Amino acid sequence: MIEQVVDGVRWIPGRDRFMPDSHMYVIGKSDAQEYTLIDCGLMEMGAYKIEELEQGNIPLSQVKRIIMTHTHVDHIGCLSEILTAIPHCEVWMHESEAEYLERGDDRIVFGNKMFDSMIRSQYSIPKDFFKTKVHRKLQGNETLDLGGLQFQVISIPGHSIGSIGLFNSEHRMFMSGDTIYADGAIGRYDLYSADAGKLKQSLDLIAGLSADILLPCHNRIVKSGANKMIRNTVAQWAPLLE
Ligand SMILES: [Zn+2]
Ligand SMILES: [Zn+2]
Repeated sequence: MIEQVVDGVRWIPGRDRFMPDSHMYVIGKSDAQEYTLIDCGLMEMGAYKIEELEQGNIPLSQVKRIIMTHTHVDHIGCLSEILTAIPHCEVWMHESEAEYLERGDDRIVFGNKMFDSMIRSQYSIPKDFFKTKVHRKLQGNETLDLGGLQFQVISIPGHSIGSIGLFNSEHRMFMSGDTIYADGAIGRYDLYSADAGKLKQSLDLIAGLSADILLPCHNRIVKSGANKMIRNTVAQWAPLLE
């Protein structure tokens, strides 16, 4: 069920199968009549998310863009389903992952050879399935006005080369993608384009935000008091990322 986090931010939980399915977030106050989606999910997981948008009274005609926190298959797998339902929807992501997708290079999407063959055996994925036009290439540090809420784009490479987070200072709310989760977990750092050293720097940066609300792309969300949990998680992982 689509659920409100704060005024202007809603959450559609992912539905994990044999693979995890990313949550989708929806940004935009209803009076702004302009919505932004954050991430979509695994293949075949677009239809129920579109239904949830409709049930949440979000007119698809007012969905202007989807911003990808990064382009792993559990986040971008149903992008084509979303774009079929919302053909005018722009795709925004960090420039260093846009480069890959625009030339049809899916090494970041799958992360390694094992996932590539495992996932291809489960789903029929045509050639160039993930090749996508990217309408806006983010670099980090942009401030975006998304349907009446301000978000700062924060470049947090490490889980993947172009991972980004979105920070809203009004609510001290951080959308962390797969870089940090609730309850002491962080994103894996062994996949293609990952980098443990950069992940450590990114986690330090996140700890410095003093976020109160943490909205990761998997597992539970933290609606208040996230700061202490984030600091503990970062401290606990630091020695393993040296
Ligand atoms: Zn990921
Ligand atoms: Zn993920």
